[in-house]
Amino acid sequence: MRLSRYFLPVLKENPSEAQIVSHRLMLRAGMIQQSSAGIYSWLPMGFKVLKRIEQIVHEEQARAGHIPMLMPTLQSADLWRESGRYEDYGQEMLRVTDRHDRDMLYGPTNEELITDIFRSHVRSYKDLPLTLYHIQWKFRDEIRPRFGVMRGREFLMKDGYNFDLTKEDALHAYNRHLVSYLRSYERMGLQAIPMRADGGPIGGDYTHEFLVLAETGESEVFYDSEVTDLTFGDREIDYDDVAQCQSILEEFTSRYARTDETHDEAAFNEIPEARRRSARGIEVGQIFYFGTKYSDAMKAVVQGPDGAQVPVHMGSHGIGVSRLLGAIIEASHDDKGIIWPEGVTPFHCGIVNLKQGDAAADGACADLYKALTAKGLEPLYDDRNERAGAKFATMDLIGLPWRITVGPRGLKAGVVELTSRRTGESEELTPEAAVARVAEIYAGS
Ligand code: ATP
Ligand code: MG
Repeated sequence: MRLSRYFLPVLKENPSEAQIVSHRLMLRAGMIQQSSAGIYSWLPMGFKVLKRIEQIVHEEQARAGHIPMLMPTLQSADLWRESGRYEDYGQEMLRVTDRHDRDMLYGPTNEELITDIFRSHVRSYKDLPLTLYHIQWKFRDEIRPRFGVMRGREFLMKDGYNFDLTKEDALHAYNRHLVSYLRSYERMGLQAIPMRADGGPIGGDYTHEFLVLAETGESEVFYDSEVTDLTFGDREIDYDDVAQCQSILEEFTSRYARTDETHDEAAFNEIPEARRRSARGIEVGQIFYFGTKYSDAMKAVVQGPDGAQVPVHMGSHGIGVSRLLGAIIEASHDDKGIIWPEGVTPFHCGIVNLKQGDAAADGACADLYKALTAKGLEPLYDDRNERAGAKFATMDLIGLPWRITVGPRGLKAGVVELTSRRTGESEELTPEAAVARVAEIYAGS
């Protein structure tokens, strides 16, 4: 993409309505625009990152054997009356009436709808296990939408639902989700720590929230510092291997890590004092096993191996796709702007032409652009007639992890400059070597 032809409405001034850095930077970098409280338009750069995050989620869900689909945003209230949640949900639910006076709602989540789809088609235990998911907009009429996309009213969520014959099978589905989420967040350059959360009225230990540590997080968390040493890495995983998934769950959840809702001071104090941490965190996902709550209420039964009709065991598993943009920026920025992790960056590499109109510089930039594109990479070429300082400031603000700077002087010596946004370190390389280096960095991601 040539910046002169793109739509990147960068703001010079700090927007006064933004209280936290990610909100400020998303507005300044021209990624989003508020349309009304807690509702945003996704401008091209914001939309690109959103799509990158979705893509990672899709790939990791596919790896785990979970099946994508799409349910509508508007739902009939009748299904929610069946589960009893139409009354329970309260004012967060946006209720609408259509022209025939039918009660509808903008889905805050999809347990009812998916259970209805399941019970319409699945009759036998032989069709289990089954995990379906979608990535769809949700609406929750939050009393205090704030922090930009972190607490919106309209937001994008990946929500997945497992259907299993037994509790044991459903817990394997739970573990699969935990593993796939660990992988997903790591690919986004994030450490998201699974923490024991509150099971709400259903109770039980089978819910974990994934938290990104950040001062601006809305959750208060308590953990053993050893949990921050754990990484998933690129280990081989067989999602059908029940024992392997279970052992990963144990590895990542056996140390103390809880949100304030489940915090237990006595258990916390058993950790050696030097390892006790309390901090703030951003919830970027949650997994849940809830047994037969919805299948009982909505009669989602299958014929079991012995012929009896049994309610299926279910769980639901959510990732806050749009919130993740804010969380990633909270975790990765400096005073000049965003620093995108390679896994989610909107463009792989920036090209800065120091002397637009200089034949050698223009030609070299065009060649670099072609060579990077040929390697399957997407560069953003700043071909505007701007001062070098302004171009660098824009690149730093929008946070592409790598920048190639091209100027007449360097070209005379046969080199361009490759700069890391994260470290600020630069290296002089031939254009070919710079392209090869960038391609190598992204290989496999
Ligand atoms: P919170 O406690 O932050 O209100 P929640 O626990 O009600 O969230 P879930 O029902 O667990 O949310 O939804 C799954 C994920 O969707 C959350 O982990 C979070 O990342 C994201 N999410 C929830 N509410 C919002 C919101 N208002 N804006 C953006 N993302 C949200
Ligand atoms: Mg939650």
